[in-house]
Amino acid sequence: MGLIIGLTGGIGSGKSAASQWFEQQGIKVVDADIVAREIVQPGQPALIQIQKAFGDWVLLDNGELNRQALREHIFQQPQARKALEQITHPAIRASIIEQLQQADSPYAILVSPLLFETNQHQLTGRTLLIDASEDIQIQRASQRDGQSIEQIKRIIAAQMPRADKQKHADDIVINDGHLEHLYQQLESLHQYYLELVQTTP
Ligand code: ADP
Repeated sequence: MGLIIGLTGGIGSGKSAASQWFEQQGIKVVDADIVAREIVQPGQPALIQIQKAFGDWVLLDNGELNRQALREHIFQQPQARKALEQITHPAIRASIIEQLQQADSPYAILVSPLLFETNQHQLTGRTLLIDASEDIQIQRASQRDGQSIEQIKRIIAAQMPRADKQKHADDIVINDGHLEHLYQQLESLHQYYLELVQTTP
């Protein structure tokens, strides 16, 4: 695999906006959230394993995963969450690697809200944090999803604190202005990543 950039950031920080910009430059982007949904589609080995481990109630009549029932179940039983993650995390990891290997762009991006929390940064050569203040995160996420401020605050509280992510990240882009300003910063990084690819044997 060539150079993989791990892109992360809290909810509403601008990960998707940044990923879309990179995609427009022809850079392959693998989204860990999308992969997490793909690996539990009907017929996928991980879904069959989940059904075996938990029972038929995890499936809806149409064969799809009953996310809500499973969410409630693991909310009540921490052990069940562990069991579920032991099935899903390796499957997500394998699929991410497979998709990254298929990238034919000069470098590729793995975007994940829990890049550091789930050790997915180990799959990357360099990490990029899209960062914004909590106030901005809340404002953008609530405008985007119509979620309550309380709900967004809960999600922020469950994610790694900003300060810790700043310590882990190799590159940081502050997304507190106009989108144009975000794109300018990404353009500089894009040039830098292209240089890295050319100068690293
Ligand atoms: P994330 O993927 O990190 O949750 P998004 O990229 O979806 O965040 O950004 C959250 C919302 O804020 C989206 O509706 C997005 O279009 C908007 N947004 C992101 N960055 C900016 C910006 N610099 N200026 C204005 N709106 C922005």
